[in-house]
Amino acid sequence: MEDRSYRHLLERAAEHYPSRTETLEIIRGALDNAANRELLFEAARNVRRNTCGDQFRLTGGISSVLPCRLAPLCLYCPYWRSPEAQQASTDEIVAAVHHFKREGIREFHLSGGTIPGSDGSELLSIVQAIWNSGIRDMEITINCGAALNVETMRRMKKMGVVKTGVVFETADRELFKSMKPGDSFSAKEKFAWDINEAGLQMHSGLMAGLGQEESRPENYTDSLIYLRQFPHMQSLYISKFRPDPSIPLKNKEQCPLDEACVLVSAARLVLRDKEIRIAAGWNPQERVSGILAGGGNELCAMMLNHHAAYWKPGDTAENYESRLEISDSRSEQRAMIDKMGLEIQ
Ligand code: SF4
Repeated sequence: MEDRSYRHLLERAAEHYPSRTETLEIIRGALDNAANRELLFEAARNVRRNTCGDQFRLTGGISSVLPCRLAPLCLYCPYWRSPEAQQASTDEIVAAVHHFKREGIREFHLSGGTIPGSDGSELLSIVQAIWNSGIRDMEITINCGAALNVETMRRMKKMGVVKTGVVFETADRELFKSMKPGDSFSAKEKFAWDINEAGLQMHSGLMAGLGQEESRPENYTDSLIYLRQFPHMQSLYISKFRPDPSIPLKNKEQCPLDEACVLVSAARLVLRDKEIRIAAGWNPQERVSGILAGGGNELCAMMLNHHAAYWKPGDTAENYESRLEISDSRSEQRAMIDKMGLEIQ
């Protein structure tokens, strides 16, 4: 049975930004009680409708655009563990972007890995190649760690980059250190402000299910309140921890769906009009739950499955593009959104 004081808590949160204490009560109350959880999901959907609307955009994505040289790698990350792992080639990236454009996609992201200490010139050359190929009217989000300087970001801004990622996964410094031993929280925090200085929007990310179960409500609360300080933050990924056989955390249990959905809803109440993206670790059915918990309003529907396809002598643009592997979930995403009574823009 729902808790009546919980309903009042949500009514107050619908009117104003919840404080830290209120956010923690909202999260705890929903994790402990299924009826409260349903109330929270409904409140988060209402906030989404009133702040962002119920229209969703379909976007594209290209991952592994750079190798990851963090040492050690993040404990939850399955990328770059195999010596055979290769970054996507610039040719592939450019061809995939043209494919997205022809299919009506207007925004895409370039993500991972990270080259610590870099000024960003490797990523700049990829963005430059996209620009030189004639792409002028697509919005690009880059997400390759705190490995870019302000000047490089300013140059990228002139070539279509609108947003830069600084994904913390958690704002708990100790947990961050144990999960991302090759990374630096303070470098990321400085980078978050560098993004502002470069005049770009910021994108971030949190992972549900990291750390000990009993400390997670505080971790989620403090992480959301921490992120609220960045006025230029426009979007947040919520990933859901899922063990992969290749990672050091392979024996840790996956994050329960309800818990990840509670984090999505709490993010909607704390961050209001920011985009709350359902990211890695959610299967297609779970994604529906994430959207019903107030996630949105972007759906990544076209992804390059890169396999380091380089141009061969005699290739034409058409036959090169036909060798690309692009996963396309637009029809499934449209059907899902339709079923929920929402709209695709
Ligand atoms: S920085 Fe990104 S790609 Fe590199 S290990 Fe961490 S999560 Fe994986």
